[in-house]
Amino acid sequence: MEFCPKCGCVLVAQNKDFKCPRCNYKAKSKIKIESTEKIDSKPEIGVIRDKDTDGRR
Ligand SMILES: [Zn+2]
Repeated sequence: MEFCPKCGCVLVAQNKDFKCPRCNYKAKSKIKIESTEKIDSKPEIGVIRDKDTDGRR
């Protein structure tokens, strides 16, 4: 959930952006997309490590 930096109101999702219903502040959801990409790349590293351990045996 995102909050408005101006009035602290909860931002409402509107299309791809977030909008404050109180003061009409608009915020893009770029931060959320970035964090999702970081989480997505973590399992791949784990798979590579798994193969490395398997080759040693
Ligand atoms: Zn606001």
